[in-house]
Amino acid sequence: MNNPSPSILLIYTGGTIGMIENPETGALENFHWEQFQQHVPELKRFNFHIDSIMFGPPIDSSDMEPKYWVRIAQIISKEYDRYDGFVILHGTDTMAFTASALSFMLENLGKPVIFTGSQLPIGQLRTDGKENLLTSIEIAAAKTADGQPMVPEVCIFFENKLLRGNRTTKINAEGFNAFRSYNLPALAKAGIHIKYDTHLIRRPDPTRPFCPHYLMDSNILILTLFPGMRREIIDGILQQQGIKAVILQTFGSGNAPQKPWLFDRLRELDRQGVILVNVTQCSTGTVEMGRYETGLQLLQAGAINGYDSTMESVVTKLMFLLGHGYSKERIIELMNTDIAGEITLTE
Ligand code: ASP
Repeated sequence: MNNPSPSILLIYTGGTIGMIENPETGALENFHWEQFQQHVPELKRFNFHIDSIMFGPPIDSSDMEPKYWVRIAQIISKEYDRYDGFVILHGTDTMAFTASALSFMLENLGKPVIFTGSQLPIGQLRTDGKENLLTSIEIAAAKTADGQPMVPEVCIFFENKLLRGNRTTKINAEGFNAFRSYNLPALAKAGIHIKYDTHLIRRPDPTRPFCPHYLMDSNILILTLFPGMRREIIDGILQQQGIKAVILQTFGSGNAPQKPWLFDRLRELDRQGVILVNVTQCSTGTVEMGRYETGLQLLQAGAINGYDSTMESVVTKLMFLLGHGYSKERIIELMNTDIAGEITLTE
């Protein structure tokens, strides 16, 4: 049986969706929640109990940091039993990082946590924010025939697709279709009906409790490889003190230029206990380090496979695992494990 009146908590962190154009300067400024509600009178038409919490002050998502991910996780954890689902209003620029981080931090999540935002402010006539918000609320409240939450996952809903948060990347700075999940189909599509692809949706282990985590360690570096990289520059960066993990953004199926100085430096880092992860610059497909000599050498230098991870997912997963203070061996083991639906393991 469906719950007759689901309870939803809206958490507004910032971003375009909650902004309005200052008529004098033309710049976008933040709304107050009351003003926001005036622009979405449809909120009152839901047969749901909707509460809201606003970040004060709201944060442009370019300024999002692990400490704010922790704040979101703490709010959800504190309010977990009171609500059927959570809708997080967030700037689009780094939404995929926050959604990825939360997918790891909210272990064994049993309720929907749906991120959304918009390309045009909610006060503008052609805004995409209204539809994104209203459909996200519906998804957060949706139940299966036996009364279970339809999507107990951290997701991003945008335009008309519900995407797994840790599979999603922002791909468009202009159009309303701002997000894409290249390596996993949408969990739902919203048209006249919202159609869920139920076999893709993850479910929590009913024998284990919801377990939030709050420690993140951001001592990591992303190194995007490119033809013509200079030893003096790259070596200087890689010799910085305090780096605990290096994400190598490689070519194609995980390949690097065959430069002995690069492999020597990576082997040295590996010996020092730094974790090296190989992620491809390609949007679709996966890393296969045994496929070419240029990839094999990375494997031999100690790099581990990032599979078909998004950059957002591999960054936040490393922060999450380093935050636990695990040994290098344990982190490598968990990087090779699908812990929140973030990678496709090919065996
Ligand atoms: N700069 C904004 C942000 O990410 C853009 C947006 O919300 O779309 O906060």
